[in-house]
Amino acid sequence: MKTLPRVKLAMLPTALEEAPRLCKELDITLFVKRDDNTGLALGGNKARKLEYLVGEAVELGADTLITTGAPQSNHCRMTAAAAAKVGLACHLVLNGTALTVKQGNLLLDELLGAKVHFLGSDDASLAPARMQGLNDELTARGARPYLVPLGGSSPVGAVAYVMAIEELLTQSCGQNFDYIVHASGSAGTQAGLLAGVKSFGLPTRVIGISVSRPQVRLAREVLELCRDTLTHAGAEIRVEEDDVIVYDEYVGRGYGLPTEASTSALELFARREGIILDPVYTAKAAAGLIDLVRRGTIPAHSRVLFWHTGGMPALFADLAPHWGEKA
Ligand SMILES: *Cc1c(COP(=O)(O)O)cnc(C)c1O
Repeated sequence: MKTLPRVKLAMLPTALEEAPRLCKELDITLFVKRDDNTGLALGGNKARKLEYLVGEAVELGADTLITTGAPQSNHCRMTAAAAAKVGLACHLVLNGTALTVKQGNLLLDELLGAKVHFLGSDDASLAPARMQGLNDELTARGARPYLVPLGGSSPVGAVAYVMAIEELLTQSCGQNFDYIVHASGSAGTQAGLLAGVKSFGLPTRVIGISVSRPQVRLAREVLELCRDTLTHAGAEIRVEEDDVIVYDEYVGRGYGLPTEASTSALELFARREGIILDPVYTAKAAAGLIDLVRRGTIPAHSRVLFWHTGGMPALFADLAPHWGEKA
């Protein structure tokens, strides 16, 4: 694999932790990969992607990062933290209209010194044009901006999860997992994990639990991004449609809106293992995991890795109805 530009932002490796009380409850062997503890302003999966995205930005001589997301975006919070750590300016384009009460990730964005621009609409498809407009404005004023895509989900960002599989291999001592289960949003994490599993020839199936997008769309995006990520990394490995597993039945009424099952999963992980999930992503992934085990889709006694992708700051924010990503 090619050596790609990278800056150190995350505390790696993250712990691989057994969850014995949940194992008993679910009748599987369950480990949790603690990417909620990557550091970089309260942790999460975006820290890994940002190591490569900011690596590229720095190599290109950028002095400003521009990105986008929902008002409670973990990706935006961590991009702001990365900018602060490396000494870059940061502009965030957030969906919706300006909120007067600042909580959770939004509070941290401002604490971290990012300039927040509200899109004025819940239609996230307007965000790329707004980012481009900001890019042009800042460039005219002499800045050198670098655009980080939504969720950091480009081949440059997703490659971080290929490396995360290598990290997992050094921790799991030749004991393969049957399944990796995780929250899937903008396709980057799943694309990277799948590219990693394929690159290292593992039998592990990667199961993405969608938190917003319909199955057909997300599966197509994961496949495309997985192939582009492998090309970007210089690996010649084939990935087929059958390799992509996405479930969208745990989304509920929409992105960021809790379901009965996600709330029970949040409680179960907290009360059995002292592990705090988040209401937007990981609680829905855990609800998916629990249901797939109960239905036998994940058979009893399987070796399962739940990849905790972070997101806890959203627990400390009102789940206001207008923080939606249009699926
Ligand atoms: C962004 C995010 C995800 C989803 O990752 P994608 O690469 O966008 O699929 C999962 N969990 C948390 C907490 C996140 O912030």
